[in-house]
Amino acid sequence: MYYSNGNYEAFAHPRKPAGVNKKYAYIVGTGLAGLSTAVFLIRDAQMSGENIHIFLKSYQLLVVP
Ligand SMILES: Cc1cc2nc3c(=O)[nH]c(=O)nc-3n(C[C@H](O)[C@H](O)[C@H](O)COP(=O)(O)OP(=O)(O)OC[C@H]3O[C@@H](n4cnc5c(N)ncnc54)[C@H](O)[C@@H]3O)c2cc1C
Repeated sequence: MYYSNGNYEAFAHPRKPAGVNKKYAYIVGTGLAGLSTAVFLIRDAQMSGENIHIFLKSYQLLVVP
């Protein structure tokens, strides 16, 4: 994490919520709202990315040629 005088991380230090390691997030959709939710859960709620599940509308999005 990059810290500077002006960025969010320099002045905001949210405390880790109790029991967050035992909680899971299930997000429907990969638009701005869905991906932002995942980012804020990791950054502010300190939830592990492994506990966050994002449902895509189509598996075709996952196909890598
Ligand atoms: C033509 C156009 C141009 C735009 N230009 C700009 C711009 O220049 N700047 C700007 O700031 N904003 C712009 N916007 C607005 C911006 O795109 C939206 O405000 C923003 O994308 C909304 O984000 P969202 O996550 O709420 O919804 P979305 O981005 O619509 O994401 C919703 C996601 O959920 C998925 N989904 C839906 N149903 C299901 C389901 N049942 N299961 C799984 N997944 C599902 C969809 O496939 C989609 O990926 C534009 C919008 C349009 C239409």
